[in-house]
Amino acid sequence: MRQFVNWSGSLSFTPREFAEPADEDAVRELVVRARESGRTIRPVGSGHSSSPLTRTDDILLSVDRLAGVIAEDADRARACAGTKLKALGEGLYDAGLAMDNLGDVDYQSIAGATATGTHGTGVGFGNLCTQVVGVRLVTGTGEVLDISADDNADLTSFDQLCVLNTTDTRADTELHLYYADAEPVGPYAITVDARRVRHVRLNDLIDPEAVRLDRPYGCLLRSPVPVVVQFLRQDTRLPGVVALTAAMAYPA
Ligand SMILES: Cc1cc2nc3c(=O)[nH]c(=O)nc-3n(C[C@H](O)[C@H](O)[C@H](O)COP(=O)(O)OP(=O)(O)OC[C@H]3O[C@@H](n4cnc5c(N)ncnc54)[C@H](O)[C@@H]3O)c2cc1C
Repeated sequence: MRQFVNWSGSLSFTPREFAEPADEDAVRELVVRARESGRTIRPVGSGHSSSPLTRTDDILLSVDRLAGVIAEDADRARACAGTKLKALGEGLYDAGLAMDNLGDVDYQSIAGATATGTHGTGVGFGNLCTQVVGVRLVTGTGEVLDISADDNADLTSFDQLCVLNTTDTRADTELHLYYADAEPVGPYAITVDARRVRHVRLNDLIDPEAVRLDRPYGCLLRSPVPVVVQFLRQDTRLPGVVALTAAMAYPA
């Protein structure tokens, strides 16, 4: 049993298993094995986060051995998940490239930094994720997926509900989803405080079950007080553009 201690020492625990896969196949095999035996995996980058994001009683997957930078063309490069920002800068420099902006330390892994929205300063810069144009990942079912505006672009799209409550009463709303080829699912509880607005990404809803984004669906929102609801879809499948559609609803 190996104890894990984060960078600052504020978090320590002993996972049941500490895995350090050295390549994509090993990650995939670990995920498949965990899934088949009902176990769970938590990835860890450099352990630089102070909050207990990486704590687990089961399998801790370190990406330390998955490191390296591969220059792809004149303006982009591929970095393996465990590549530390310092090594990323050096690898990019060798290829005549550089990051637009970084935080104040270079100890983090690229996977951990992008997973947490790590950012530098400057109003004209986005966080590190905004410099990412594609991702290759192992899903929870052991599938390897390339995701970018060109590959599996539907996975980078999202649907969002904007629920506006202008009343003086908290709105405990219930969302029900209706599918073309399956029974309705719900309720998904969405609370909007009095005189507040709430944006909910449908991709994030998992209780009572993950929204099935791969098929047509409609939304029914029940609210005890009048609310205004707007549905937004950002669809990156269309070449070169981001499509945004909106519809508004208000109870009669
Ligand atoms: C001294 C110090 C300075 C800092 N400076 C800044 C700063 O300037 N700007 C800023 O924004 N933040 C800053 N931070 C915060 C830090 O950048 C973030 O905590 C960052 O997430 C750390 O990256 P990591 O590789 O250590 O990730 P970890 O802490 O190891 O993991 C973070 C999260 O990423 C997930 N994760 C890791 N690897 C993977 C993977 N391969 N696949 C999926 N998920 C994964 C983990 O499960 C966890 O949820 C600082 C922190 C410290 C201690």
